Amino acid sequence: MTTESALDTARAQLRRTVDLLKLSENEWLTLSTPRRILQVAVPLRKDNGNVEIYKGFRVQYSTTRGPSKGGVRYHPTIDLEETVALAMLMTWKCALANLPYGGAKGGIAVDPHTLSLSENERLTRRYTSEILPIIGPEKDIPAPDMGTDERNMAWMMDTYSVNAGFSVPGVVTGKPIVLGGSLGRTSATGDGVAIATMAALKSRGIDPKNARVAIQGFGKVGYWTAIALENFGLKIVAISDVQGGVTGFNSVADLWNHYKANGTLDAPGTERITNDELLEFDVDVLIPAALADAITDENATKIKAKIVVEGANAPTTSGGDRVLNDMGILVVPDILANAGGVVVSYFEWVQDNQNYFWSADEVKENLSSIMTRAINDVETMSAEKKVTWRDAALMIGVDRVAEAHRLRGLYP
Ligand code: GLU
Repeated sequence: MTTESALDTARAQLRRTVDLLKLSENEWLTLSTPRRILQVAVPLRKDNGNVEIYKGFRVQYSTTRGPSKGGVRYHPTIDLEETVALAMLMTWKCALANLPYGGAKGGIAVDPHTLSLSENERLTRRYTSEILPIIGPEKDIPAPDMGTDERNMAWMMDTYSVNAGFSVPGVVTGKPIVLGGSLGRTSATGDGVAIATMAALKSRGIDPKNARVAIQGFGKVGYWTAIALENFGLKIVAISDVQGGVTGFNSVADLWNHYKANGTLDAPGTERITNDELLEFDVDVLIPAALADAITDENATKIKAKIVVEGANAPTTSGGDRVLNDMGILVVPDILANAGGVVVSYFEWVQDNQNYFWSADEVKENLSSIMTRAINDVETMSAEKKVTWRDAALMIGVDRVAEAHRLRGLYP
């Protein structure tokens, strides 16, 4: 197996896209360089009185099409390189969905499960105050990502607002509804993954009724994807978390209730499978919705699914992607498949800035129309240029950023 960092993968994808678009070397240089990188020390007084210092990051990869936008990840292995890679992906994702944003990502190298609630709050507030000078509703708008949720967003919003001297709900998205959050934001990424899955099934001529699905990951993305797809009439046959997976459950809701109550997926009647077995399950659709690099050149050969829908960010290495394409498997790339989260983040920011809030139906309808337009753009580009959906999605996203660069020109 070739080891490849997330940044290697993202840069290789960009290089390929720049070549496909026949952009100049000057454009490659501009597009492959992050605009602003901040690394901070985040000291935390633990409940036992000891002080620990964690590394925190915020990368504003691009601000060409608008303020930068992207999540904040709490994960023990996150580093500056991976944050740059994820911020780059956010840039193409926002451009592909045609949102008026650049791309960003942030994070702290910490395992949030090791923190008490009050430690998590202190860490989040200190991180927010360290990155305070570069964030704001007109500059850079953080959101939840792996390891963070609406509680973290409430603390970030409060820390920023207390320093500003007034309430600034538009500084982060993914907030609780009472603080200016949007209806439909919690399920948005999963809803978008489900919309993309339906479109992929249609494009491959597979009847969604009883189409079989395996989902790796039962977190914010995996759970809501499973619920939405089950509602569309698909059969979810395998689900996993970090410990491994199960098959044989009655419904996603049943499995979730057991998971919440007991902390394990071993609901009555289920059978254990490993995460590797889940990837190799005999299904129509495989949805990696957990960590990066789940599908590699080594395990891709064993995949039986006809369609892979990337719920996670960067779940497929370049080598894995090549194998899937050679096997004729349709890959719906991350920047298209999981764009629903940032699309509804955009709606939340618009609502906050206008102090006017939408109904759940309005959010759903607008999400569906933006996702459908992006999917149609990708399908059309893929057919016209005879390229994969990933190449097509990147070509659309990167070209929009390149065009904005050209029109703005180089200062001075
Ligand atoms: N963290 C999510 C993503 O990777 C959402 C980002 C946002 O809403 O700004 O797309």
